[in-house]
Amino acid sequence: MSSDQGAITLLMAAILSIDDWLTRTAIGGFVNKSMTEIRKVVACVHALVACASARRALHLSATGLAFVVSLWVVALDNRAFWRVLWDTRDSSSWRGSAAVSMLAVVLWALLATALRGLFWRWMAKPVACLVLLTSAVLAHFIDTFGVVIDRGMIRNALETDLREIADLLSLRWWLDVGLRGLVPAAFVALAVQIKRSSSWRRETRDVLALVLGTTTLTLATTAAFFADYAATARNQREVRHLLTPTNALNALWGIWKERRPSRTTLATVGSDATRKSSASLDRKPLMVVLVVGETARAANFSLGGYGRPTNVALNRPDLVYFSNVVSCGTDTATSLPCMFSDIGTERFSITEASARENILDVLVRAGVDAAWIENTSGCKEVCKRVPTKSLFDEPQRWCGAATCFDDVLVPALQQAADASAADKLVVLHMQGSHGPAYFKRYPPTARRFTPTCDTNSIQGCDLESLRNTYDNSIAFTSDVLARSIEWLERASSRKDIVLLYLSDHGESLGEGGLYLHGLPRRLAPRTQVQVPMLMWVSPGAARRLGVTPLVLQASSDAQYSHDNLFHTLLGAFEIDTAAYRSGLDIFAIARSSGPRRRTAPP
Ligand SMILES: [Zn+2]
Repeated sequence: MSSDQGAITLLMAAILSIDDWLTRTAIGGFVNKSMTEIRKVVACVHALVACASARRALHLSATGLAFVVSLWVVALDNRAFWRVLWDTRDSSSWRGSAAVSMLAVVLWALLATALRGLFWRWMAKPVACLVLLTSAVLAHFIDTFGVVIDRGMIRNALETDLREIADLLSLRWWLDVGLRGLVPAAFVALAVQIKRSSSWRRETRDVLALVLGTTTLTLATTAAFFADYAATARNQREVRHLLTPTNALNALWGIWKERRPSRTTLATVGSDATRKSSASLDRKPLMVVLVVGETARAANFSLGGYGRPTNVALNRPDLVYFSNVVSCGTDTATSLPCMFSDIGTERFSITEASARENILDVLVRAGVDAAWIENTSGCKEVCKRVPTKSLFDEPQRWCGAATCFDDVLVPALQQAADASAADKLVVLHMQGSHGPAYFKRYPPTARRFTPTCDTNSIQGCDLESLRNTYDNSIAFTSDVLARSIEWLERASSRKDIVLLYLSDHGESLGEGGLYLHGLPRRLAPRTQVQVPMLMWVSPGAARRLGVTPLVLQASSDAQYSHDNLFHTLLGAFEIDTAAYRSGLDIFAIARSSGPRRRTAPP
């Protein structure tokens, strides 16, 4: 392949990778408007073969390569970033458009300068390939799911497992990352020859000249458009999470900083925790079953007014549904530690939560047994100090399949309940409705709403079938909860029992072009933070706690949040500690409000 052919290959990859956009514009006439995925595969493979058979024909200096790679990343891997800036610019005068255009030039020069700084000797090509591939992966998730790349998203990515990753790798993923990342990376690796500088001195001088030029350009542009950039920085703060690849570097830096301090000792929470004398009275043991739902959003619970029968199995008079509950975070890595901690949504930080005890530690210190049963990808360190059984890690043993559906939690709960006669908290962590492969969250027999979206490329499904699939996962969660309650009802001759179900965060199902979850809480739509919560109490537990389902029902539409969990568990197990706040204990709120409604602090 000659350098001309190589350049044409690269140009084709660029055009194909932005064909969604091209088909919506006048330029669309030049490319086939119905570019099928199969043709993209052929183009991608052809481009890779062309690169592989290339004679290292294109001679570029390290600075030249830095500018080419930078232009590719700034232009092709930052579509969402530029769309937001362009749509929100001051369109009343030429300044707004000029400010965005000049920013593009400055970012191109800045990224090129940073890359040039890394392109020393043999490092140039590996670094260029790494940047191209990483940026393509980040850009794919931003463009496809409407997510932003911040600390929470990167933390989730670092804490995920192979099965979750496999769920995300669709044909569209391979094509997008292939065209935007793999093809240019292969081109750089195989078709580009770096021109060596004649001496170290000369190379250093070139780099310094580049730094000086870029600095001058940046300062001059900032001075000329300061008011515009200041307004954008103030009003569009979150847009920085769309700028690839600095969003990921920023997030990694933040995570490194929060993990850096060696946490040798945990801060004690509720060091004065003791059981009230009433807790030691001669009566049946108390068992609280806390079911942590995964990715269930309140908007799709018929118990909360959703128009489709997703909670049929839970239609029973002794079950209380709380209709106004918000989550602490919009992803598991935030919500899970937050809901078990005493810090509260307003002040919550993962760094602080991982450096102090949570409610499980307090309960255990006060003499309550605790057990955690995991059927998804991890408890985010919350269950670190209590006995934990992972059905997720050994699915073959528990259900004889590659992954267990959540109904495997019912026999696991029975085992855990029968294991001790002491007062006990059993936490069940479900797979629930974790996406994008919602169709893998329920067995074929539980496919009630059809047609379904049986792929992980959910953005290719119509919204109706996507909703059907998600609703099937919610209905299956309802079945699992109903079966658990039926068994607990039988066990209530031996124990006083409370079952509390609470989801960790909600989900977007294509509304406004958004999918999945994890947007910063301030920006997140209600569907990502409004979560379902429900409770069942056995007659014995109701007497013991002084709350009948009717009394709980009376305050069930008050505003609750994840902040209520810590104090509600302390209240249920009658634990005396200065850390307890009755105003956040759902039982205490219900007792004190009686038939009258009272709102708890959020
Ligand atoms: Zn989650």
